Amino acid sequence: MGDSQFPQATLQDPNLQESPPLVGGSPGDFCLVDSHCHIVFRNFDDDIEEVAERWRQAGVKALVHACVEPSEIPAIRALADRFPEMRYSVGVHPLDTEHWQADTPSVLKAAAQADGRVVAIGELGLDLFRDKNLEEQLAMLRPQLDLAVELDLPVIVHCRDAAEPMLEELRGRAASGACPRGVMHCWGGTPEEMAEFLSLGFYISFSGTVTFPKADATHACAQQVPADRFLVETDCPFLAPVPRRGKRNEPAFVASVAERVAVLRGETLTQVAHTSSANAARLFGLTLHTV
Ligand SMILES: [Zn+2]
Repeated sequence: MGDSQFPQATLQDPNLQESPPLVGGSPGDFCLVDSHCHIVFRNFDDDIEEVAERWRQAGVKALVHACVEPSEIPAIRALADRFPEMRYSVGVHPLDTEHWQADTPSVLKAAAQADGRVVAIGELGLDLFRDKNLEEQLAMLRPQLDLAVELDLPVIVHCRDAAEPMLEELRGRAASGACPRGVMHCWGGTPEEMAEFLSLGFYISFSGTVTFPKADATHACAQQVPADRFLVETDCPFLAPVPRRGKRNEPAFVASVAERVAVLRGETLTQVAHTSSANAARLFGLTLHTV
């Protein structure tokens, strides 16, 4: 698929293009959505076709490719041209402050408006695990949250060791009607923190960390999260789930994440696959034929 199928919208265009329907599947088919992956990283250069074959065999009918900084966008877009089941976000990761420029918000806006396959702004957020530059991170976070509200797109939130400042930011916005909807990706917080994000309308996305044996808080969250508010993801190439922990992660392995969530919830894999896919479709506006 080339650009002709997704004509450029102008910045003045008030209407985002509709996300085109996803191919494949029919109602009731087994369906997984990898709601957060990074295939554009070089780890997949050599065997991307085999990787895609495996995600198709695993029942992955849609993938949302996350973006960490604007220079990735052309390559992510090329991947979406190649794999029709791919959608993507545009945004700047909180640890990528060196990629933030004065014109970044307008670059992201133009990219989001140019392609109906852009289904979210992100990944954005706060990460105080490695860096302590909260003010600098907030200065990138706020314009991206504003953009999501302006374009009526959900946000993909990366939040590590920063639940309190993130909640403070979102609560302030909710009070003034300027809080976007979104998903807390790669969830690693406590059940109490989860309850706060849920009350702000956010979805919770579980990654390979939910398969780790000592992740007690994450297990509790997977048990407690309402059925209509959780997603599953790989965050590949990072965080491969058990039994492949430590290896390169890939979208097919989202099945292991869903399987662990199913065991924790006392549900079947098919149930968890269906509900998490329906939730991803609702959040990102995906037209899945299977849910
Ligand atoms: Zn990510």
